[in-house]
Amino acid sequence: MTGDTFDLAVVGAGIVGLAHALVAARRGWRVVVIDRDDRCVGASIRNFGFISVSGQGAGDTWRRAMRSRDVWAEVAPLAGIPILQRGLWLTAHRPEAWTVLEAFARTPMGHGCDLVVAADVGHRAPELRMDGAVGAMHSPHELRVESRQAVPRLAGWLAEAHGVTFRWGETVLDVTPEGLRTVTGVIKASRVVVCPGTVLTGVARTWLAPFNLRLTQLQMLRVRPPAGFRLNAPVMGDLSLVRYRGYADLPESVALRTRLQIEAGDALANGIHLIVVQSADCTLVVGDSHHDALSPLPFASEEVDRIILRHLHETVDLATCEVVERWTGVYPVGGPSDALVVAPDDRVRVVVVTSGTGASTAFGLAEDVFGGWQ
Ligand SMILES: Cc1cc2nc3c(=O)[nH]c(=O)nc-3n(C[C@H](O)[C@H](O)[C@H](O)COP(=O)(O)OP(=O)(O)OC[C@H]3O[C@@H](n4cnc5c(N)ncnc54)[C@H](O)[C@@H]3O)c2cc1C
Repeated sequence: MTGDTFDLAVVGAGIVGLAHALVAARRGWRVVVIDRDDRCVGASIRNFGFISVSGQGAGDTWRRAMRSRDVWAEVAPLAGIPILQRGLWLTAHRPEAWTVLEAFARTPMGHGCDLVVAADVGHRAPELRMDGAVGAMHSPHELRVESRQAVPRLAGWLAEAHGVTFRWGETVLDVTPEGLRTVTGVIKASRVVVCPGTVLTGVARTWLAPFNLRLTQLQMLRVRPPAGFRLNAPVMGDLSLVRYRGYADLPESVALRTRLQIEAGDALANGIHLIVVQSADCTLVVGDSHHDALSPLPFASEEVDRIILRHLHETVDLATCEVVERWTGVYPVGGPSDALVVAPDDRVRVVVVTSGTGASTAFGLAEDVFGGWQ
């Protein structure tokens, strides 16, 4: 392939890069994707695989999440990616949390979501702990995939079904007038999309510097529940209502935050909120925390894991569970909106999701990037 000219070169084989490759390939463009690693090991395989819609920020992010959910639903069976769960249960243990859910349900984003009082949740989701809770919201929009399996399968399908060329283990050094310069030579391409994920000081450094982005580090756990335990949808709780912008931007969240400062100050101080999803082998992926730094240290805190597990037990009715895996992940934060698209010239775009929503929004975001790029 050396010497060929591509219509598009994509730097980064995370979900954001793959989403751009998909849109371009569907336009009939010849696409090459280059990644410095020999397989995707970044944020895109470390996440929950939770393609979430309800709770995404009003406007572009929610719209992109709705669209991305549809693209995932269409592409997953073609690429051999199982959809493991659908929908979302968001429990409200405090009256202030219920008030936020009621306010959310009145917004246009609440369409299709269902507020269920505690006494009735038991019939629909008996695995949720509703003792002392006010109720829960069910959202029908969400999907869940196993990212560590889904992202490689998506890349494989793009190569096989769409002829996308992948060059793994090759660091891109520069964007040049003729395309890209990598550690092994030149790749000619008419257009370039740089999707560097957390690599803010690499090839995209000059373009990203004005935005003062930083990174946030998350702690994640996989736990094995008792035999036969089955969650019929991903689960979130009160803490999510002061973290996810679609809820946290509502004025009603202020009273909830005040109460959580008193009752769950250690969780807020560590940026903890609860997401629980279930895998095909019945294990649960549980998280997460957020600690910001320009270059996060790689050490995970046992105390943070304990707080996450405490909230798991408060929200989900688990007699016991055994931790079987722990990992950290990082994503960029800061910038003027949930996603940053920089256009240094009419040939190059730099695309960074700056809100930890890339699995949920990448396909819609990529369509927007191409829509503004005739
Ligand atoms: C623990 C965790 C949980 C999360 N949970 C969710 C969730 O449930 N739902 C959700 O929507 N989002 C979630 N997110 C956020 C989501 O995972 C990210 O927004 C998304 O994966 C970002 O994708 P990306 O392609 O930009 O980055 P990445 O997946 O990091 O990919 C970037 C790629 O670019 C490559 N690269 C960079 N520079 C170069 C270069 N110069 N040359 C060649 N290659 C280069 C890197 O090697 C890397 O493979 C979570 C994130 C984390 C960390």
